[in-house]
Amino acid sequence: MIEVRGLTKAFGEQTVLKGVDLTLEKGSVLVVIGPSGSGKSTLLRCLNVLETPCSGTIAIGEANMAFTRGAKAKRSDVLTLRRQSGMVFQAYYLFPHLTALQNVMEGQLTTLRRAKEEAKERALALLTKVGLREKADAYPHQLSGGQQQRVGIARAMSIDPQLLLFDEPTSALDPELVREVLKVIRELAKEGRTMMIVTHEMKFAREVADRVILIDEGVIVEEGRPEQLFGDPQQERTQQFLSRLM
Ligand code: ATP
Ligand code: MG
Repeated sequence: MIEVRGLTKAFGEQTVLKGVDLTLEKGSVLVVIGPSGSGKSTLLRCLNVLETPCSGTIAIGEANMAFTRGAKAKRSDVLTLRRQSGMVFQAYYLFPHLTALQNVMEGQLTTLRRAKEEAKERALALLTKVGLREKADAYPHQLSGGQQQRVGIARAMSIDPQLLLFDEPTSALDPELVREVLKVIRELAKEGRTMMIVTHEMKFAREVADRVILIDEGVIVEEGRPEQLFGDPQQERTQQFLSRLM
């Protein structure tokens, strides 16, 4: 289970997250929607501790961390928490000088200190899962955007995280490549992976989400089941946001 309480984050004078609370059951999919600049990426980055929250608590599985304004976060706690989630970014951040296989092995060797053979075996299994076993020895520049993004998904899964975080995983892709990436994510949802997905693909969101939250100006404006939030939104701000997408 994932539990976030009172999460805040400011950049200088600007408070971007203003006390976010959320609970995510193991095996469920939470989709995060909201206008540009509302704090969606910042929320995901805080969960992965790529950004240090100003205050609040984050619990993912066994890892639990409290952030206090002005207090320095303990490095070992940060690493433990970070290890609980795997992040898939909007633009595929693969290491350009490593092959697909090496990209999926890297975190296992450094973060988990797995033996090389074991890491390789696991990486090959993950590449098979995302349909790219035959591209194991290709470098990122030899892969299409959709293929690179699928390697990114395999890489995020390689450290066996409790939670997978997707930040607009298809928005940098050409339309014809979107489908293959969504297909992989859809399969992961079916398998019961715990995932949090920021997306503008509303049709996909509706289909894959167990819960949806709408964030606006750093606050969760509305939360609900997809049929409820998309079909019968309660808040005016949700109605406005959705009507702009139609
Ligand atoms: P989009 O849909 O465009 O991706 P978003 O909801 O993901 O938007 P964030 O990227 O979380 O929005 O940004 C929220 C606010 O925080 C924005 O005003 C942004 O300019 C600001 N911000 C984000 N990261 C930083 C940073 N590293 N330094 C300063 N300001 C930042
Ligand atoms: Mg963003």
